[in-house]
Amino acid sequence: MVQSSVLGFPRIGGNRELKKATESYWSGKITQEELIKVGKDIRAANWKLQKANGIDLIASNDFSFYDQVLDLSLLFNVIPSQYNKYNLNNLDKLFAMGRGLQKDSIDVTALEMVKWFDSNYHYVRPTFNPSTEFKLPENDADIKPLAEYLEAKALGVETQPVLLGPISFLTLGKPEKEYLDSLDLLSLLPKLIPVYKSLIEKLQKAGAKNIQIDEPVLVLDLDKKTQDAFKTAYDSLNLASLPLKSTIATYFGTVVPNLDAIKTLPVSGFHFDFTRAPEQLDTILSWLSASKYALSVGIVDGRNVWKNNFAKSLKVIEASVAKLGADRVTVATSSSLLHTPVDLEAETKLSEEIKSFFAFATQKLKEVKVLATAASDKNSVESELKANEEYVTKRQTSKLINNTAVQERVAGITDSMGRRNHPFPERYAVQKDFYKLPLFPTTTIGSFPQTKEIRINRNKFQKGKISAEEYETFINSEIEKVIRFQEEIDLDVLVHGEPERNDMTAYFGEQINGYAFTLNGWVQSYGSRYVRPPVIIGDLSRPKPMSVKESVYAQSITTKHVKGMLTGPITMLRWSFPRDDVDQKTQAFQLALVLRDEVKDLENAGINIIQVDEPALREGLPLRSGAERDAYYKWAAESFRVSTSCVEDKTQIHSHFCYSDLDPNHIKALDADVVSIEFSKKDDPNYIREFKTYPNHVGLGLFDIHSPRVPSKEEFITKMGKILETQEYEKFWVNPDCGLKTRGWEETKVSLTNMVEAAKFYREKY
Ligand code: GLN
Ligand code: ZN
Repeated sequence: MVQSSVLGFPRIGGNRELKKATESYWSGKITQEELIKVGKDIRAANWKLQKANGIDLIASNDFSFYDQVLDLSLLFNVIPSQYNKYNLNNLDKLFAMGRGLQKDSIDVTALEMVKWFDSNYHYVRPTFNPSTEFKLPENDADIKPLAEYLEAKALGVETQPVLLGPISFLTLGKPEKEYLDSLDLLSLLPKLIPVYKSLIEKLQKAGAKNIQIDEPVLVLDLDKKTQDAFKTAYDSLNLASLPLKSTIATYFGTVVPNLDAIKTLPVSGFHFDFTRAPEQLDTILSWLSASKYALSVGIVDGRNVWKNNFAKSLKVIEASVAKLGADRVTVATSSSLLHTPVDLEAETKLSEEIKSFFAFATQKLKEVKVLATAASDKNSVESELKANEEYVTKRQTSKLINNTAVQERVAGITDSMGRRNHPFPERYAVQKDFYKLPLFPTTTIGSFPQTKEIRINRNKFQKGKISAEEYETFINSEIEKVIRFQEEIDLDVLVHGEPERNDMTAYFGEQINGYAFTLNGWVQSYGSRYVRPPVIIGDLSRPKPMSVKESVYAQSITTKHVKGMLTGPITMLRWSFPRDDVDQKTQAFQLALVLRDEVKDLENAGINIIQVDEPALREGLPLRSGAERDAYYKWAAESFRVSTSCVEDKTQIHSHFCYSDLDPNHIKALDADVVSIEFSKKDDPNYIREFKTYPNHVGLGLFDIHSPRVPSKEEFITKMGKILETQEYEKFWVNPDCGLKTRGWEETKVSLTNMVEAAKFYREKY
């Protein structure tokens, strides 16, 4: 019989219970026992739901109060010494490592947070040193995977504990600062493996019959040494000697280039993602059919909100069964469902038609079960298969999805649409004359503090408690406040402050045809921060201007230049749930055309400087080097240029990037006149030098907007001095790292004032 498996379920609760409880605990409103109880209830509900849906392999240890990788660091005693100083209990230590702790006499910063592959989830990076002493807690009750396995068992649910595997745990981590160049992480393997072994033995003794070990790094480019480490690690772990089934799981990409690394490992089977990398099927089946390994077919997408296409999935499943036999095949989610919203039933405002296209985590459980059943006995799920067939046709032909005018316009994009009238030096000559900006022009990235008052008014407007006119008056008064402040401290290029925007993607998405919105479609981004991505459901078009009104108002009340502010095509795409029926490039170009019209409208309305933000440019980069990545470099840059190249030479296009190490060449390809880049935490002269050859103008962010800390004028002077040592001074803009949305007004005022003073200091000198 073909079995069904779910690699993990969202742990935030159907109503974001975990967020509420965690934040209440942090602010001292509930006790630790109360928080623990909320976690326990969520786990119980998740397990029971999966059992009720007939899932055979239900994950445990997929829950976390902060991050599953951080859980493992804590479990294995990978705890940098500063966190051990204060006698914190386990959970408080977890939070201190995840988000830092400043309380009474305690002051520790958080560990580094990094993106989980190409998803919008962030994990806390394990940090190792040569004498890291891996060990399990003495008390079994503190061994999380064991405790949770037993907890489920007590509820009558047999689960499959999930652990991040040893090679991924080490290679996703980094050495502590002093050992950055000297510590080879894989050299820690011999010390680490015995701890895995004793953990898995404990799980087996407690009754576990199955265990899943995630090795997601297998979808990355791995050097020979890392590839070889798999054999060493798993041979020495020797799971085949234990009476339990072990599955190594990968997801988010193809494993084929690393196949040799895992081909002969002593485990029972493998899980692969055939939603992201269907092309690996043939290679994998021909390898497996000559072996005894079992295959878990990842076919229900753990990363999106779309209903599965059963007929298409069944082809993959049936091919697997034909080669391996039903007993060796499991039907599974492609990855953990962590990256999908919890339950579609909570969406009371979506139209029935759109709703009929979606499956959230709860609905995906049924899909896994139906597919597993269909693999052995199609008749028993005949009505489900038929309904699914109807869905596929309905979606393909839906008016909500298809817009021929948009498709034709994308097909008609020409090279010249992605090219400005003249190259930068000629444009700059015109701009220099027109703007007459001083040396070291000062500006900000766009948003100003989003105060409680702004949130209250937005809320009132959304609930219909104030009229559109009243809301507009309020927004204009906020814009005016921001403009007057910028004039007062003498910034050179002003912004309107973005008070009307709750989120830089959703704000535009709401005004674009072809987007859908959820009420409750939250997914965890990191810790207690969840996001609610809008969904691209069809061809995208703009019924009317989206940002012109606010920019024009701001420009009308000042003689200084005000930047128009837009979100770029790649960021719109990456921070939405994309379509799965059209490639990402096409969606990016549709967005590019929407933005192109907006850019033109801004220009026509007298907005001369327009910033198109692309903070997500880096995260769209395919995980592996090669053709796909090279192609991305090209189309991502082109989609930006199509958005922005419709303007006259005089119009100055800005762009902004953050959250990532960017390759200056990638930025160069966008051909923006001015770019601003997150920079303040980069303590790295090499990175400054990399931008030396950047041909256009550039602002390297001078202060960290994630922290309330206020840098003094002298600090700004020192920082600018360092940059000016290598950077051509005529090209250099002065700005913060990113938008000031999450900051308070107090610190914003002082920081920006000091920044402007420092720019003036250097103006005198040059
Ligand atoms: N213009 C946006 C802001 O200032 C940019 C935000 C971002 O880069 N994440 O908030
Ligand atoms: Zn930013």
